[in-house]
Amino acid sequence: MSVFEHYEFDAHEQVVFCHDPASGLKAIIAIHNTNRGPALGGCRMWPYASDEDALTDALRLSRGMTYKSALAGLDYGGGKSVIIGDPRADKSEALFRAMGRFVDTLGGRYSVAEDVGISVPDVEIMAEETRHVAGIAAGGVGDPSPATAYGVFMGIKAAARHRLGVDSLSGLRIAVQGVGHVGYYLCRHLAAEGAELLVADIAQDSLDRVVREFGAQVVAPEAIATAAVDIYAPCALGATINDETLPQLQAKIVAGSANNQLAEARHGEALRRRGILYAPDYVINAGGVIVISHEGPDYNEAKAFAHVAQIHDTLLEIFRRADAQKVATSEAADRLAEERFRGAAAKATKAA
Ligand code: NAD
Repeated sequence: MSVFEHYEFDAHEQVVFCHDPASGLKAIIAIHNTNRGPALGGCRMWPYASDEDALTDALRLSRGMTYKSALAGLDYGGGKSVIIGDPRADKSEALFRAMGRFVDTLGGRYSVAEDVGISVPDVEIMAEETRHVAGIAAGGVGDPSPATAYGVFMGIKAAARHRLGVDSLSGLRIAVQGVGHVGYYLCRHLAAEGAELLVADIAQDSLDRVVREFGAQVVAPEAIATAAVDIYAPCALGATINDETLPQLQAKIVAGSANNQLAEARHGEALRRRGILYAPDYVINAGGVIVISHEGPDYNEAKAFAHVAQIHDTLLEIFRRADAQKVATSEAADRLAEERFRGAAAKATKAA
């Protein structure tokens, strides 16, 4: 298994393979780029079918964090870690302590937080071995979902202004796919502004709550992506923009919190050709990581949320650039992010 020849390798700075025989920990920490600052990114625990699959995920996710942090205006680079194991069967205190010690060996070049399969208590165990952690309850901001939802709301407003020429979402029909942590808070913002909500979920209690509180109309899970709405907000799974859904989309805007909404990169261009404005997922869903970056003894919620609100203007810049360059918004976002983190390296060299 070669790292340098790997198809997801993209000039990553450091890839660390971690093994602790006593606890059984097998993990990979990938640091993609630290031009803007030390790498920040969650730790994912997953029963990968092979070491190769774990490496693929670590390389891909850490690169994504560099782009996300650059466009969120954070002084952080991109990193991510993966633990090879089943989060329902293989968790132990010894495992997370060992992970914390490996994070600590990097001396702050990488800070760890939660991701799929890893929750706040797991990171809190790591925090006993290293101070390079984020997103923990003690001294931290706790659940990032309200901030993520606020960022998505501001992003939807930017998209509505650009594509529909309106400053208010009042009267617009918006389909929210998944009303879990982020989807629920998003619905609250949208309802407060007078939007008409269509919602889908596979959990009845989550649906009941948004029907009761916001008067949302329930749609079958398989029908929500292609419902007759102005805006489609995917807030559940990834890859819902694909060859099957794309020709049937009726929304003029796709803007939601889900990660990896485009099944393949080419679907960004396919949306553009259909005249559907896409708010790139890693830009619009950065609210959580933005508030986490503000964590610390001087945490100021108003300041952190004002930073989240900047997602609105960042998206407007991306939309304008995409129009001017006649490229997909997903591509315009990547280019802008690259300017920002490569630009940071140029500045650092000049200063030295
Ligand atoms: P969550 O698990 O709380 O909510 C997801 C919801 O989607 C659940 O209610 C679930 O029942 C529902 N769902 C699952 N399959 C579905 C289907 N086929 N159709 C309709 N609904 C379905 O997760 P979350 O924290 O709200 O995150 C939602 C999305 O946003 C995820 O893709 C996540 O990666 C992304 N995201 C979340 C955050 C955050 O701060 N929580 C930050 C960035 C990105």
